[in-house]
Amino acid sequence: MDFKNKLTIDDIDIRGKHVFVRVDYNVPLDENGIIQDDRRIRATLPTLRKIINDGGLPIIASHLGRPKGKYVSGLSMEPVARRLEQLLGRPVTFLPDSSGEIVLRARKEAQTGDVILLENLRFHKEEERNDPDFAKQLAGYADLYINDAFGACHRAHASISAIQDYVEVAAAGYLLKKEMEMLGKLLVDPEKPFVAIIGGAKISSKIGIIEHLMDKTDKILIGGAMSYTFFKSLGIDVGDSLVEDDKLDVARHILEKAEAHKGIGGRIFLPIDAVVTDDISDKGVRKVVNYEEIPHNMGGVDIGPNTIERYKKEIKGCETIVINGPLGVFEIDQFSRGTREILTAIANHVENGGIGIIGGGDSAAAARKFGLADKMTHVSTGGGASLKLMEGKPLPGIEALTDK
Ligand code: AMP
Repeated sequence: MDFKNKLTIDDIDIRGKHVFVRVDYNVPLDENGIIQDDRRIRATLPTLRKIINDGGLPIIASHLGRPKGKYVSGLSMEPVARRLEQLLGRPVTFLPDSSGEIVLRARKEAQTGDVILLENLRFHKEEERNDPDFAKQLAGYADLYINDAFGACHRAHASISAIQDYVEVAAAGYLLKKEMEMLGKLLVDPEKPFVAIIGGAKISSKIGIIEHLMDKTDKILIGGAMSYTFFKSLGIDVGDSLVEDDKLDVARHILEKAEAHKGIGGRIFLPIDAVVTDDISDKGVRKVVNYEEIPHNMGGVDIGPNTIERYKKEIKGCETIVINGPLGVFEIDQFSRGTREILTAIANHVENGGIGIIGGGDSAAAARKFGLADKMTHVSTGGGASLKLMEGKPLPGIEALTDK
């Protein structure tokens, strides 16, 4: 988990080299192939500019959507090439395949200053199979390999994992470097006191994080629908709230473990009140109740005002805060207050010199929705990847980077 010994773009000599750059350009496209959000492309510009300015020639590759190993015209990278061209302010040669003769020819003809973008890697089934021959072909197009696709680093795919067996040098680009620095520090030697706020719909997808962070944090504050699985595991009636009945034992076990840690660290806080509704929509009735008084025909959809105040108090005085998962149904305005207020408190904490990290996925979407993303120390670009990292699991894309 300590990534300090991994080679990065700042440690390598790029001049005159062909550089295979694995990025995550899995951007949302509408039915006309128009890019809805180009953040993922913008996020790689520092790495691409560094390669170009240092006299290297980037050969860029990504996946897009789930074409399942065959050509799907709606998932072509061509619109991405055009957008990249605008953002970089220089021509981008788009190749209609990610491997084969066409790439070899383009590579041979390319001049310093050129930029090449390959077609969707997942048009070849070998990509997701982590196929060594396909990886070897990809590696053969370049002298150096740079990974700047944090959002895909948890996948053992050919261009992320197997390719690193065939290149002499595999380094992290700037996007990946920042993720490794920020999340690595969080998991290895966070500034203490350290508080984790964990929300979201399902406890099942967050058990790993809660268990891993239990010993690393001073407190864990729980929100989102998973609170109700915890409550139910304690025998509390939660009405119509979303509950994972097959996780009640695990939830109880986690709470017992947290009790055992009391006062030392890993102490878990559950909400003390809830916003409940009879209908998860902007037309639903909205009511605030104590956590033990959820009506049988209503379900919890946000943390209540007393919980907001309590959680704000709990994060006061800490150094590091990480949040993973929204505290309520933030997509619907009348159930978004808990998530918005807690994110605002984290932004204020950062403004006052503290560390505030958003773990990616839906919490990052919420921070953007409320205009708070730019106020954080770091907003992770990887949902699944940051989740896995915070569970303490190795990511194939990072593991395989060359050691310094
Ligand atoms: P996750 O992917 O597990 O982080 O869950 C994110 C989703 O959880 C968001 O779409 C939220 O709307 C949803 N969510 C958060 N709190 C609740 C709740 N109390 N009831 C239902 N859904 C929730």
